[in-house]
Amino acid sequence: MLRRSFALVTTALAVGAGVIAGAAPASAAPAPAPAAVVTLTYDDSLAAEFKSAVAQGAANWNASVTNVRLVKAASGQRVNIRVIADNGWPRATLGPVRPTGSGTVWFGREAVNDGYNVVRIITHEFGHSLGLPDRRTGLCSDLMSGSSAPVSCANALPNATERAQVQRNYASALVAQPAQTTILVDAA
Ligand SMILES: [Zn+2]
Repeated sequence: MLRRSFALVTTALAVGAGVIAGAAPASAAPAPAPAAVVTLTYDDSLAAEFKSAVAQGAANWNASVTNVRLVKAASGQRVNIRVIADNGWPRATLGPVRPTGSGTVWFGREAVNDGYNVVRIITHEFGHSLGLPDRRTGLCSDLMSGSSAPVSCANALPNATERAQVQRNYASALVAQPAQTTILVDAA
């Protein structure tokens, strides 16, 4: 079984090298250029009492992935993700948002009033902006389990699988901008 897995991996690598190098031997292939880092701006001017939580949520993603960064928009700069506090459930446009696109996160107070951790809420919603769907596993170790995890859950960092998915979502600048019309509502 191990041997078979190894053979499959070798085949996949050979195919990948062939794509890069054409007919040249794999050993002659140039090292691939480092992937460009995508910068997405967010606007917190309507985030009311949640601005520090929003900043922490962005920092959590910036510490977790390497090819996309969330930065607060400077005055007059194009905004990719608007964060709006309201009295509904937290919800967000499903991305992945591209630098030419936009999405919205609603920082709904329903979940805050129920006692859910505010930094976990916004990091989860930014996860939607970055293209992660909900996975209601009930596990606190899963960021995208959202409110299916216990109210007491304070984990606000994506797990390895979630990080890897975001890395894949931003692995290529050539990916087309999807129509971002799906809004995921995080009702408890
Ligand atoms: Zn969600």
